[in-house]
Amino acid sequence: MPDIKDTVGEGGANLTHDVALVQAMLRVVKNAQGAPYLNSAYDGVYSPQTKDAITNFQIDNKLAPAPNAPNAPNAPIAPNPFQAPNAAPVLDKVAVVKVGSATFKKLVASLPADYSTMRIIENTKTVYLEMDAGVAIASQTKIGAHPDLMGIGFRNDVVRLVELMFKTHKLALTIAGRFGVHRTFQEQVNLEPNATKSGPGESYHNWGYAVDLGFNGIKWLAGDGTIVQDDWWFRKLEKVSLAKTVGFWKERDRLADSISQSLYRVGAWDQVHLQAFTGAKVSAGRSLVAILNNLGKTKWAHIVAKPNRYKSDLGLGGKQYDVGTSRQIWDLKATITKAMLAEAQSAALSAKLKKVVVVNEVDIKDTDLTDMRKTLKADLEAADTNWKKWAPVA
Ligand SMILES: [Zn+2]
Repeated sequence: MPDIKDTVGEGGANLTHDVALVQAMLRVVKNAQGAPYLNSAYDGVYSPQTKDAITNFQIDNKLAPAPNAPNAPNAPIAPNPFQAPNAAPVLDKVAVVKVGSATFKKLVASLPADYSTMRIIENTKTVYLEMDAGVAIASQTKIGAHPDLMGIGFRNDVVRLVELMFKTHKLALTIAGRFGVHRTFQEQVNLEPNATKSGPGESYHNWGYAVDLGFNGIKWLAGDGTIVQDDWWFRKLEKVSLAKTVGFWKERDRLADSISQSLYRVGAWDQVHLQAFTGAKVSAGRSLVAILNNLGKTKWAHIVAKPNRYKSDLGLGGKQYDVGTSRQIWDLKATITKAMLAEAQSAALSAKLKKVVVVNEVDIKDTDLTDMRKTLKADLEAADTNWKKWAPVA
């Protein structure tokens, strides 16, 4: 277990992470009566209860002299008349745990076996247990050879992040859930609206340029010292405190930035997510349009909107019409009308026959609309099937 970074206790720096770690140890180490030294929840804030817990632990373990009188803890330390002449010297100051001190070492040695690998990340308040090196190595191997994770540079950066996270904090990052790398358009739709803000063809997961990387299996200590095993998303810790989870994500992101400037995040609403591109440089909408124009049967354009909307020439070679969001198109609910089809067909026939031909709205059947919606969806399906042909467009 790594040492504390600075002194905890009376007059100490009492850095949050150091206090939390010492408190957590005092919460799980028990005295001769079987009671924990610290009876309150560990919280990273140095308190009178923390002071008493440290003092009692030191006295019980002969690491510091007992106060001369119960009501005079600050009395000058006098030689203890009951102490044998050759007894080990008193090592530590009362109610002070220094870096490398006998008190800290004794606390570590006193931990129950299940807790022997307790750790904490600087500037956080949540103590956790070391994860298994094998999990981190298996994760690196899986990511490094992942057939659906595109971009060699991106993939290598993600592998290095897993490696660095384990090296630095003994935490194993792994791909989150079944849809943590590539997602088909239908899988993307199935996740909406709770987990993603992107329609089919608008998430970098649809093209293999995103990975969800989380802390599955991490065991953290609840306030009372109970070990809680969590999932990739810290769903259990989130219920205790969202702020506590943020510390872990911030550290993952800090390490990501130390490796590469190309491991992009999307924000607090989706912490596990990392992607190879940023919205500042790449347009998800225009990139989708590019692959649709490459592989589809109609001619597409992007409409900047929230959510993105798309235009298509309906395969008739003329004006492009607003046909809706990618989700609407995918659901066969493209926002086309009979008037739209009549106008597009009139223009196409007039151009072909080199004379004015008018197709009236009443000439358009319901099945024509249905068929056109299927044609538009077929273009999305072509992109979905050939997703590895996608390329970023600014
Ligand atoms: Zn994601």
